[in-house]
Amino acid sequence: MIQTEQRNFAPERPARVAPPFHGLREPLAISDITTGGSKLVPVSHGLSEPLRVSDIRQYVYCPRIVYFNYVIPVPRVTTVKMEEGLKSHAEFSELESRRTLGKYGLEEGTREFKVQLESRRLGIAGRLDLLITTASNVYPVEFKDTCGDPGLHHKYQLVAYAMMAEEARGKPAKAGFIYVIPRKKVFKITVDESARIFTRKIISAMVNIIRTGIMPRRTRWGGRCRDCEFRNYCRDA
Ligand code: SF4
Repeated sequence: MIQTEQRNFAPERPARVAPPFHGLREPLAISDITTGGSKLVPVSHGLSEPLRVSDIRQYVYCPRIVYFNYVIPVPRVTTVKMEEGLKSHAEFSELESRRTLGKYGLEEGTREFKVQLESRRLGIAGRLDLLITTASNVYPVEFKDTCGDPGLHHKYQLVAYAMMAEEARGKPAKAGFIYVIPRKKVFKITVDESARIFTRKIISAMVNIIRTGIMPRRTRWGGRCRDCEFRNYCRDA
């Protein structure tokens, strides 16, 4: 089980003010948006689109990544390591579809792979690796091609998927799983109330960065900057 210690990830003191995010707009009334005669619920936080669930993972890793993704988008480079990770992820998904649910401690359940989820109430969207649905619960599963144990950034991404899955399927999500591919190890993550509250706080903090255009302070963990693709843009990293 990974640590469940929670820290305050709210944006810290501003480094400098950047131009406003071009996709930002004022919250819309439900009656403002219609599609083919049916009403589309506006995204709760008032940005033009839901944020990505992967943004939650990146925010917990380093809040500044959200700034570079949304406020001053910079060119992204796909490294060989990233491409290899995507390939191994796809191969694992294919194999997993032929295996049983035993490693998750479940006797029964239906499996759906690559499930697109969106919650306009939470203001997030993303594609979940695997969703297991039993008679009484849903369990989100994320596959990670990482060497160590899952970190808090993986945990809160999973919690966000759990919150979206229960909204989409109408069943509670009390737990989820992170499968670490290289180690063939499953980590069970409890989705309790404090984790849900904290996930909502992360979403609010990300929206605040985008709305204000203020660069948050760098991560406290300097080692994370070594291989970061944004290193050239962080003068203090
Ligand atoms: S270089 Fe460091 S401070 Fe800058 S975005 Fe990457 S992890 Fe964050």
